[in-house]
Amino acid sequence: MNGFAGRILKIDLTTGAVEKSPLPEAFIRTYLGGTGFAARFLYDNVPPNADALGPSNVLILAPGLLNGFPVPTGGKVLFCAKSPLTGTIAESVMGARLGSELKRAGYDLLLVSGVSGSPCYIYIDDEDVEIKDAGGLWGKDTRATAEDIRRTEGDAVVACIGIAGENLVRYANIDCEDRQSGRGGLGAVMGSKRLKAIAVKGTGNLRPHDADKLMDLCLRYTERMIESTAFNDDTKYGTGEFLEWMNSEKGTFPTRNWREGVFDDREKIDPYHWAPLYTKRNNACLACPKPCGRIFGIDEGKYAGLRIDGIEYELLYSLGGLCGMGDIEELARANELCDLHGLDGISAGAAVAFAMDLFQDGILTREDTGGLDLEFGDPEAELKLIEMIARREGLGDVLAEGVKRASERIGKGSEDYAVHVKGMEPPAYDVRGIKGMALAFMTSSRGACHLRSCAYALELTGKFWKFEGVDRFSTKGKGVEIKELEDMMTVYDVLGVCKFSRGFFLAEGFVDILRTVTGLEFSESEILGLGERINNLKHMFNLREGLTRDDFRLPKRLLTLPIPEGVSKGHVVTEEEMNKMLDDYFEARGWSKEGLPTEEKISGLDLV
Ligand code: SF4
Repeated sequence: MNGFAGRILKIDLTTGAVEKSPLPEAFIRTYLGGTGFAARFLYDNVPPNADALGPSNVLILAPGLLNGFPVPTGGKVLFCAKSPLTGTIAESVMGARLGSELKRAGYDLLLVSGVSGSPCYIYIDDEDVEIKDAGGLWGKDTRATAEDIRRTEGDAVVACIGIAGENLVRYANIDCEDRQSGRGGLGAVMGSKRLKAIAVKGTGNLRPHDADKLMDLCLRYTERMIESTAFNDDTKYGTGEFLEWMNSEKGTFPTRNWREGVFDDREKIDPYHWAPLYTKRNNACLACPKPCGRIFGIDEGKYAGLRIDGIEYELLYSLGGLCGMGDIEELARANELCDLHGLDGISAGAAVAFAMDLFQDGILTREDTGGLDLEFGDPEAELKLIEMIARREGLGDVLAEGVKRASERIGKGSEDYAVHVKGMEPPAYDVRGIKGMALAFMTSSRGACHLRSCAYALELTGKFWKFEGVDRFSTKGKGVEIKELEDMMTVYDVLGVCKFSRGFFLAEGFVDILRTVTGLEFSESEILGLGERINNLKHMFNLREGLTRDDFRLPKRLLTLPIPEGVSKGHVVTEEEMNKMLDDYFEARGWSKEGLPTEEKISGLDLV
């Protein structure tokens, strides 16, 4: 079928077996690509209650359907597996060339199972698929690993892990071309398989259904993006451009381990202040005409020579405000350490902030920290702790488990300081003042997440897509709102389109693009129904892993500690509000009060 490579590649690292099989056409129409393919294969191939760090977990690389075509921002690819952090489905999207290269090599999906006897990397060059020795790469950082493999394999696209993945840090990530599949510990899954990297070269061509119309559509969407009002701020200041707005106008920038919702040192980490001084150039994801990625460089002083892609909004929060750290060069170094060691910067920053909070209240002492004074705002403490986490040294070994497990090990009431949902440390939205986002954190299939629904875009402006007049402090109507947004945003992850282009593509645009690339006819409701099917499938995977309604709770701090100052002062999510929103969401999904889909629901979605 046009738009697809037509094959699945399976590799068993225990036996070394490589299998190429055709992608069934009926399967294509039901799941289309990206997260749809990944969720189905995860459900069918990972046995119930499998050890996320054991041989039966399957690492899935799933290109978005539009990978390989020049659709603006349509170059997103996702990794998926059972998460070692949450025990739920883990999926994380990156904007690298990996997906398009895999499709051009002839595969719509890569599945890796088993465990290699020694460190290895997978090399794919069209029909040539090999498992190669990576003994000399083990222990190297992500940058050195990719450079070494490219020296051997020429211009292959390389996705790899750093030492955090090797050391099974439960929130280790996968790096590719300065982009990361960050959330949920997918790098630890690679590490558990002794798989250091995946290198791909593809030389084939993918055929669209209607090449002329596709070119017209691509040009039209590119023009719209370049002419949009957001273009200037997004390309100049990146995703951090709304940091000041989140602080001052909304009062919802989580600070000092969620003790506060406004960061007093925010000006120092606001890109309007630092971008003109440190930005070297833009750095776009594949097929993006509106690059929010930028290379940050330091030319003088103790970090002279530092170069990173960033600093993104999420890390300005986690490594900045959440740890009370307002020095942009130190923050850049923390960002670089996370990138080089292959750590999810959101969870790493949250783990450091959690430890600082415990130290402040005397629950952790210098004896526990190996002599470190873990004061909020101390860059030395932050950098040292990130190193210790990546290497699993001392307290770092405990924090490498994520804040949920760490608090269970530390005890002494530390559970009340651990901010997470389903074991996942949250992103940069103080949901006590954004109630719809509170529900989105609760319902996300991978644990606290802003991107499963992108509800912040609606909640903070009051208007998006078919919703308007939304009040962020109200709980009314949030069940339907989050369900609908989740289904829509899932379509983005099926097609591999960036969610920062959500103002340009909606269901209507997707139907048009899908027809042009594949020839498949979908109505708007069918494409949203596809999102619903996939979300139910992910939920069924999680239920099979033992999740219950209790796993949809917010952490105690967000239920009991009101935001102490700023525009959202006094706001908190009460237990009653939490339960009401969850009841509404389950009802909107057609699930029981306990969150169980009915048999009619499952068969109506073709999920039997
Ligand atoms: S908008 Fe930013 S994140 Fe999205 S595709 Fe473009 S560069 Fe990547």
